[in-house]
Amino acid sequence: MEFKQSAVDHLMFITNRPPLIFVEGKGMFMTDHAGKQYLDFLQGWAVNALGHAPQCIADALVAQAGKLINPSPAFYNVPSIELATLLTDNSTFDRVFFASSGAEANEGAIKLARKWGRMNPAADGSHRYEIITFDHSFHGRTLATMSASGKPGWDTLFAPQVPGFPKADLNDIASVEHLITPTTVAVMLEPVQGEGGVIPATREFMQALRRLTKERNLLLIVDEVQTGCGRCGELFAYQLSGIEPDIMTLGKGIGGGVPLAALLAKEAIACFEPGDQGGTYNGNPLMTAVGCAVIKELLKPGFLPSVLEKGEYLRAASLKLCAKHGLKGERGEGLLRALELGRDIGPQIVNAARDMGPVGLLLNSPRPDLLRFMPALTITHAEIDQMIAMLSSVISSLDA
Ligand SMILES: *Cc1c(COP(=O)(O)O)cnc(C)c1O
Repeated sequence: MEFKQSAVDHLMFITNRPPLIFVEGKGMFMTDHAGKQYLDFLQGWAVNALGHAPQCIADALVAQAGKLINPSPAFYNVPSIELATLLTDNSTFDRVFFASSGAEANEGAIKLARKWGRMNPAADGSHRYEIITFDHSFHGRTLATMSASGKPGWDTLFAPQVPGFPKADLNDIASVEHLITPTTVAVMLEPVQGEGGVIPATREFMQALRRLTKERNLLLIVDEVQTGCGRCGELFAYQLSGIEPDIMTLGKGIGGGVPLAALLAKEAIACFEPGDQGGTYNGNPLMTAVGCAVIKELLKPGFLPSVLEKGEYLRAASLKLCAKHGLKGERGEGLLRALELGRDIGPQIVNAARDMGPVGLLLNSPRPDLLRFMPALTITHAEIDQMIAMLSSVISSLDA
């Protein structure tokens, strides 16, 4: 197959893409139009929890496609009930609403918190609707989730914003306390800021937030679109700090690559009434059947411990690479990790790694001085070694 610029120009321009068309993927590898293979540390942007084209997803899709694709969200269907049961049996939450993207799940979380705030007004009768979020956070690309996000520049892009999202500083409990007013209803955060550059909230901060929100009768919302579904070595990252949030959102990994997301809440918070929330594709059996296949895989004995172990292996290998090339360090949880380069060579590394031969390497640089690793949770030690060796040769050639 050939790459033709005139053909890709039919797609609306939204971002610069390399002149490559991807046609196949298996596990940690993807193949382009010319037959070149790439070791893929993006994995669909941290969505392919089980790697490219796992058999269990192909089987779930084929079986469900031949049975029932969409009975309408007005009726119950079998896979959505099964997936909701799997999620609630293995978390602190009682109720699940399915969505098709992380942003949509977060919109649902914002609506649920605002509804709960209306039903539980402040002592002075104030309608509570403000949700404290964090600088450098990312919650999606709808207007409300962009407003909730703390990405620099997003406050003026597509202005006016949706109001009601004051920003605190991650890991600074005083900055949160300072923003609480009679109209505050919730605090929302990513247990590890993903797009912001893999910045973990500390265990102490998560615990302090839970104490503070409880004391002040505020909801604690965790956006686990990136950190959830095994990525951080527990099924959900909030479990790492031993707390129980009120609301959680999932996306990315839950679908193993297909569009599936979820909003989960404790029973006492699940206060939607008919007409408040819905959507044509929400909880459709084709996608929720895939979600069941993914979650069952993550729950197999030994799977989650293997994510932790491989995260440690990647960490150790990254630190060796730092020592060898004079890089700054590394951070992260489980298999959501970042390499701190100490200099702004991220974009050059991404390009050179992709273009190297015979096998290329796909990497992400969310900041110029940082690489983010988001491999399949099924990655092998040999594939980690291969990535580190390839990265080392790219850095050497850039330094030369
Ligand atoms: C990716 C991401 C989102 C948005 O998910 P989409 O499926 O792209 O809408 C929201 N929150 C976090 C933490 C994310 O990483």
